[in-house]
Amino acid sequence: MNTDVLIVGGGIAGLSLACRLAPHAAVVLVEAEGTLAYHTSSRSARQMQPSYGPAAIRELTARSIEAVRGISAELGQPILQPRPLIFIGTEADVTASTAANAHLCPLGHAETLLLSPDLRPDAFAAACLDDSAMEVDVPALLEYYRSGAVAAGAAIMTGLPVHTMQRTSGGWIAGAGEEAIVAAVVVNAAGAWADPLAVLAGVGIQCLRPHRRTAAIVRTEQPVNPAGPMVAAVDNSFYYRPDGSALLISPCESIPSIAEDARAVEGDVRRLIVRLNAVTSLGIAGLERSWTGLRTSGSDGLPVVGFDAESPGFFWLAGQGGYGVQTSAAIAELAAGLILSPAEPPNSLSLELAADRP
Ligand SMILES: Cc1cc2nc3c(=O)[nH]c(=O)nc-3n(C[C@H](O)[C@H](O)[C@H](O)COP(=O)(O)OP(=O)(O)OC[C@H]3O[C@@H](n4cnc5c(N)ncnc54)[C@H](O)[C@@H]3O)c2cc1C
Repeated sequence: MNTDVLIVGGGIAGLSLACRLAPHAAVVLVEAEGTLAYHTSSRSARQMQPSYGPAAIRELTARSIEAVRGISAELGQPILQPRPLIFIGTEADVTASTAANAHLCPLGHAETLLLSPDLRPDAFAAACLDDSAMEVDVPALLEYYRSGAVAAGAAIMTGLPVHTMQRTSGGWIAGAGEEAIVAAVVVNAAGAWADPLAVLAGVGIQCLRPHRRTAAIVRTEQPVNPAGPMVAAVDNSFYYRPDGSALLISPCESIPSIAEDARAVEGDVRRLIVRLNAVTSLGIAGLERSWTGLRTSGSDGLPVVGFDAESPGFFWLAGQGGYGVQTSAAIAELAAGLILSPAEPPNSLSLELAADRP
């Protein structure tokens, strides 16, 4: 099988790029698992928060929200909904966050309780608000990317792990299941497996770091307001938000992991439930389900997007960390531009994310 671009990895990174590239190039996407988005991309909290992350991420998030608004309009289906984000914590921590982040504004104690009446008044000293934060229907977004790519001619194949990869005079040849795929460009969108895939291809690694994070759906004794805000500890020790009439919670752990099908560690969710029952009056009564995924970051916390400096035709699309949902649309646009027009001078954002950045 011959193609212009082979994308390895059928998570949100690979699918969003396939959708962008397919109208302009022959694209094959292969996913190791039997279903697309089996790993981290189906395990997120589904938030797009303009206040979250370093400056480059915030810029990508703002661009992605605009792009997803456009997708919503195209689908005629609202896949974005406002989900304001309240941070609570000590006076000092909240003041420091507000000073450092233009998307956050201070929120008085009484105002906070008006927006989130389930918070216990003595559970926080100070609060601030990102009222531009959104929740996105990730399954609908993934399906938009998948169907858009296929409609434009991309071949998307599941259950095909790439197990060999060699450079040829004009590009790469990859062994995936029983297939041999010849491509001018290989895109490494393998999530937590991006460094192992590079090793397979004889390409230098980026020292990407997978970290485990868990989330859970719990039932509460008091009714949850489905339109209520997300509430997060400013010291990044938990968050919770309505999920329909239930509650989605996370202990926000960030524990180094190998690349694997991550599983929750016994006790993480139980301890969080005890803590949230002290912070809110919701009365968390039982666990419905929990899941764990790997957030894989570049060594400086930013994604790695661009051609490898030493291995022509090998393109990195990895290290999206905890921001892959909120940045996928803008990163796909950036990556497609770099692949389709490699002679164009790089802009400041592509230099910041480049695979060979200092
Ligand atoms: C609990 C939790 C909450 C989160 N919440 C948010 C949030 O609210 N907002 C946000 O923006 N982000 C969030 N994230 C992060 C976000 O989910 C990730 O950044 C994003 O899903 C990464 O997508 P990906 O496509 O790079 O990786 P993945 O979804 O892991 O996809 C990589 C794919 O590559 C495949 N693959 C690997 N090796 C091979 C091979 N050799 N051959 C073929 N295929 C291969 C894998 O099987 C996998 O399906 C959260 C993450 C977690 C764990």
